[in-house]
Amino acid sequence: MEKPAIEGGKPVRKEYLPYGFHWISEDDAAFVSKSLLSGWITGGPAIEEFEEALAKYVGCKHVILVNSGTAALEIAVKAATSPNKKIITTPLTFVASANSILYNNSTPVFADIDAPTFNLSPAAVITQISRAKGGVDAILPVHFAGQPCKMDEITAIANEHKLKVIEDAAHALGAEYKGKKIGSLKSEATCFSFHPVKHITTGEGGAVATNNEEVAHKARLLRNHGLDKSSQQRNSSTAPYTYDVVTLGRNFRVTDFQARLGLTQLKNLDSFIKRRNEIAKFYLKELADSPWLTLPHVEKEVKHAWHIFVIKLNLDKLRVNRDKIFAALRAENIGVNVHYIPVYKFTYYKNLGYDEKQTPVTEKVFESIITLPIFPKMTHEDEVDVVNAVKKVLAYYAK
Ligand SMILES: *Cc1c(COP(=O)(O)O)cnc(C)c1O
Repeated sequence: MEKPAIEGGKPVRKEYLPYGFHWISEDDAAFVSKSLLSGWITGGPAIEEFEEALAKYVGCKHVILVNSGTAALEIAVKAATSPNKKIITTPLTFVASANSILYNNSTPVFADIDAPTFNLSPAAVITQISRAKGGVDAILPVHFAGQPCKMDEITAIANEHKLKVIEDAAHALGAEYKGKKIGSLKSEATCFSFHPVKHITTGEGGAVATNNEEVAHKARLLRNHGLDKSSQQRNSSTAPYTYDVVTLGRNFRVTDFQARLGLTQLKNLDSFIKRRNEIAKFYLKELADSPWLTLPHVEKEVKHAWHIFVIKLNLDKLRVNRDKIFAALRAENIGVNVHYIPVYKFTYYKNLGYDEKQTPVTEKVFESIITLPIFPKMTHEDEVDVVNAVKKVLAYYAK
């Protein structure tokens, strides 16, 4: 049997393969650098252009572009909910999902996940609503890995209990639920991220997508200090100097060159998703026979956007734990990762009184998950290296 690199063997590859990476083409770069000389650095026409293109792509009325996915979540929660309420979300997510609730002086309530998909469990949401005994104002599902949550069930629960729904779709740009793009469903708002590991990038960036006029109006105000006029509206020979501040907003504005990058990246989004699906298909085929892992489960009603590819180790058939497998794969120069450390495990959240007792499925899943590299720029050799490293390391540590 081949010795893993961590035990002194030869690594599967020489160069470190990250788990995610952006793809910026020469055309993207040329398009953006032209905008740097156009006169508009921020507050210009490219922002609306990208907003309209995104709205068209996801199939919604309004898109509000901001400078991060986290900012999008913060203003979406603020625009759609009341403060000092409880908002139900998943603990198996990036901390920003829960932070966006705290920023608005509301309380995240963690509901457990469904074991096969790692998505928020509708049944667990119902349990938490009854446990909360009032004060719940919204549900904030996260489309984990790029697989849409059971949105019909979540929307039905929300309707029954008069709750709002804000989707964290940072993983799910281009994903579909029952033939409809994420961003076009019946929620109050859907938030996207354009961080470089996500489907398309603007460096940093994010967006709120909504069909709700009031949410759109509030989100636009919240992005720009609560000002009732944009800089474009104030910048002409006939415009008065006056403006009003109608709410406590932020500066979450995005620059024109970021919007231009978004516009040109958007043209490649479908090909990026196609490539992500090909890599996922390759992993699903090549690793199907492994007794040491469980592959991701994909529901029939979704089109998966494959932001990340998360496998579960069958720890009962291995001699070592996840952390050892993680270190062994890193030593093979495969940039595996763990998505996610459940939010309640962080010091800040522990100090708020959160623990693992409410969400036993998340707790169990967390022990065994590992994320394999997946991004459009990966070559066939890269994906073969990943499969070989996983097979080599797991065979070595088999019971
Ligand atoms: C990336 C991400 C965010 C935050 O997006 P940023 O653009 O990095 O602020 C929020 N939620 C989830 C689930 C994410 O993966």
